[in-house]
Amino acid sequence: MKTGFYTNPIYLEHDTGSHPENANRLLAIQERLESGGLMDKLEVRQGRSATTAEIKMLHAEKLISEVEIASESGAHSLYTQDCVISTQTYNAALHAVGSVLDAALEVAERRIDNAFCAVRPPGHHAEYETAMGFCFFNNVALAAEFLTKNMGFLRVLIFDFDVHHGNGTQHFFEERSDIYFVSMHQDPRTCYPGTGFADERGNGAGSGYTLNVPVPPGMEDEEYLQTFYANVHPKLQEYKPDFVLISAGFDAHRADPLASLNLTEHTFRELTVELKRLAEKSAGGRLMSLLEGGYDLNALASSVEEHLTILQTED
Ligand SMILES: [Zn+2]
Repeated sequence: MKTGFYTNPIYLEHDTGSHPENANRLLAIQERLESGGLMDKLEVRQGRSATTAEIKMLHAEKLISEVEIASESGAHSLYTQDCVISTQTYNAALHAVGSVLDAALEVAERRIDNAFCAVRPPGHHAEYETAMGFCFFNNVALAAEFLTKNMGFLRVLIFDFDVHHGNGTQHFFEERSDIYFVSMHQDPRTCYPGTGFADERGNGAGSGYTLNVPVPPGMEDEEYLQTFYANVHPKLQEYKPDFVLISAGFDAHRADPLASLNLTEHTFRELTVELKRLAEKSAGGRLMSLLEGGYDLNALASSVEEHLTILQTED
């Protein structure tokens, strides 16, 4: 398969010091893909900068200027230590969105079969006018908005398997039926950001188009996959997405220092197989995945390698 791999050296310059969301994450991924030989099989692309008009598809002007001003003024964080910032953060965040929009366009037009965006800062916690949880602009939400509003897709699935609930993504789309937000994450009573309960199912026209499947701390591969096949898989088949987006956070891995699930690469492989199969069935194969969390460098590198191996392999 022709699998795009989008990244940009500017992501390394979003300097967060000793914060767990740091540039070594992308270096570890890159090193693993190079040493394992997978990088040679990928279509490597350098993502562009998004324009502020593109960010404004979903975000408030207030947030854009807050991130810009905080970066340029040499501030060390925006609001709290949760959102560490450096002089290149604004630039990196614009390029993260740019990669994701480019990848979505290339996949939409079938110039490549599927894509993975190794971007940072991550995005799924970012709200309309608020940065939070290491996230500034909501990369996956902007891709979904672009696909529905500019490209005419009618049923875009966002599957979020990051261990944390994608609160920002959910809030953008919970009143719409053209974007189905599905998240599996650690029980919000035990985990940041404290949202994503099973009874959050969407509102108004979007009623039934948000699916939250919280799972208890300590859960292992077998039980997690049983939960996926029982409670999620049938709903995905029923929705018949015409584009599949994945908020791919790998922090549900047992080695991850920030959360308490006990998954291994096996689960990430299996989820990728199923989402790719789903895309082939109803979306002409159109699938685009992007990096969210994942903070143990070895676990992150090997999980991304598994994920990309499946995306790149011909069935
Ligand atoms: Zn996370």
